[in-house]
Amino acid sequence: MIPLFNVAMSQQDALDRVAGVLRSGRLEHGPIVTEFEGVLGERIGNPRVIALNSGSSGLHLGIDLAARSRSAEGRHGDEPGEVLSTPLTFEGTNWPILANGLRIRWVDVDPATLNIDLDDLERKISPATRAIVVVHWTGYPVDLNRLREILDRAEERFGFRPMVIEDCAQAWGATYRDLPLGNHGNICMFSFGALKQLTCGSGGMLVLPDDDLYEQARSRRWYGINRQADRMHGGYDVSEWGFRFYMNDIAAAIGLANLQLADELVERHRTNAAFYDKELSGVPGLEQTERAQDRQASFWVYPVKVSDRPSFMRKLADAGIVTSIISRRNDAHSCVDAMSTTLPGLDSVSDRVVYIPVGWWLSEGDRAHIAETIKAGW
Ligand SMILES: *Cc1c(COP(=O)(O)O)cnc(C)c1O
Repeated sequence: MIPLFNVAMSQQDALDRVAGVLRSGRLEHGPIVTEFEGVLGERIGNPRVIALNSGSSGLHLGIDLAARSRSAEGRHGDEPGEVLSTPLTFEGTNWPILANGLRIRWVDVDPATLNIDLDDLERKISPATRAIVVVHWTGYPVDLNRLREILDRAEERFGFRPMVIEDCAQAWGATYRDLPLGNHGNICMFSFGALKQLTCGSGGMLVLPDDDLYEQARSRRWYGINRQADRMHGGYDVSEWGFRFYMNDIAAAIGLANLQLADELVERHRTNAAFYDKELSGVPGLEQTERAQDRQASFWVYPVKVSDRPSFMRKLADAGIVTSIISRRNDAHSCVDAMSTTLPGLDSVSDRVVYIPVGWWLSEGDRAHIAETIKAGW
């Protein structure tokens, strides 16, 4: 079978680096995490980077930072706080909102991009908004300039600027207006999970838009304790409690080993996607998603919208090709029953969206086989 996902591991370099950490006797909180952060900051072009034990931890911390900053403004009284988010994503995007004791207010999905519908987002911003979560789904960047204009208008209207957390978990290597994600004024989360373009085995990071948020995030990823303080003699104080979200040195060593490789592999995802963009265009019963000129996607997977999805998936499985719907629409889960709302954009695509393999592991023969199988009909 041609898999939908694969692990991008730089074998010998990762083995050597991990061996170095194991021999060093410093498995956590050593110098390798700091080194990894330095290199990540250079790649992104923003030095305000903190490495974490998962992307989900990054969202948990990012939402917490945003919601506290809103609470500190003290203008919202007793209204229950809510976070605006998209239901077309991995559950890992949305459950950290609930874990922060906040409600999810679902925003509709743009059928053209499969990202959050920015018009519906603008309609739903209100004094109850504590934060906004957007996802660069499959690695296709959200229109961040339009988003900024929406925040500008919200600020004029409501007297506060909602903070945005960008879920870049699938978007390592993606750019918007020639800049890597992580540079557009929002809190950004990346995942370095096993199946992501850049992997540490398990890990993630937050990229912060200003020094104040960076300092808060840095302190609160490890219990709120200043790691430079004299802890032996109790000469430290925790003014704001924090989490246990630190990355460890083993993970950072794996990440360092895979950085160069990840950049090369994302290029191959793009080349394969360009092939499908051409080959699958005009296939009856299949619709492709938007490609705007001002952004470059990372194509974690390749999304298509098809008629008779079960039959499409069966046909490809019979031809040895793995496809998946990846996640159920998050608003359909019973744990969020109380938050359900009508979402016509999502309704119009949720039974048609399916993801096909596009990654570096495809040979030219594989991708031609996938295109031919689809073009033959299902
Ligand atoms: C992988 C993923 C996450 C979670 O990241 P972890 O590093 O596994 O915690 C969150 N959101 C999206 C969209 C993801 O793909």
